[in-house]
Amino acid sequence: MEKLLFVNMDKCTGCKQCSLACSLMKEDLFDSARGRIKILKKEDIALGLQLLCEQCESHPCIASCPNGALSRNEVTGIITVDEKLCTSQGACIDACIYHAIRLHPETKKPMFCDLCGGDPYCVKHCVPEALQWVDKTEANLKEKRKYRSTRMNVYKALKKEIA
Ligand code: SF4
Repeated sequence: MEKLLFVNMDKCTGCKQCSLACSLMKEDLFDSARGRIKILKKEDIALGLQLLCEQCESHPCIASCPNGALSRNEVTGIITVDEKLCTSQGACIDACIYHAIRLHPETKKPMFCDLCGGDPYCVKHCVPEALQWVDKTEANLKEKRKYRSTRMNVYKALKKEIA
């Protein structure tokens, strides 16, 4: 059965193990700023909030790219970038409704979660299980969207206060 990445903000401690694990997987170094999952924190209310590609249904990033550098696997929903076509204009960054895309500090190409191709490394390092790799059932999909909506509402309300 297909899987999906389920994110439960309520369980997140803000430890950033996920983004560190991601940077190790993708870049062979420990630097949470290079993780394809970004963790924002607000210590006084013990908030840890995740920003990452949601493999969303509308994927406006793809339409925003004037060079056609982004594409989506219709089976897995995974979005990837063809770096040869990308000119680093950053239109996809502005288009992403989940604030999930950043430019790589050196290559200036977009960085975002690709689910490690279908076996996300971050999940294995999230001790409190705020990240889970679960079966893509209708029920889990519905719950994922519900939690995502709550998370984005929190982000909109607190984005000036969290970093
Ligand atoms: S590893 Fe889990 S608990 Fe730690 S910051 Fe990432 S999502 Fe939150």
